[in-house]
Amino acid sequence: MSSVPGADKKSKLLVYSIEECPVCGQKTKRAFVVGDYVTKEAAKCTKCSNQTRVSLVYAESSKPSG
Ligand SMILES: [Zn+2]
Repeated sequence: MSSVPGADKKSKLLVYSIEECPVCGQKTKRAFVVGDYVTKEAAKCTKCSNQTRVSLVYAESSKPSG
């Protein structure tokens, strides 16, 4: 087993998906759901009711609270 540079066993990664509306550009950040992928059709836009798509999937490291 080789160690991964920058990996910290104490910090967990939170994965998010960004849904983007191709018409008005509205972006919605939500928690990643298994099966999500970039260009996947997502929810209807809350502004213009057009079909949004997942434009980005990324992970953030959660900061330990307390
Ligand atoms: Zn829209």
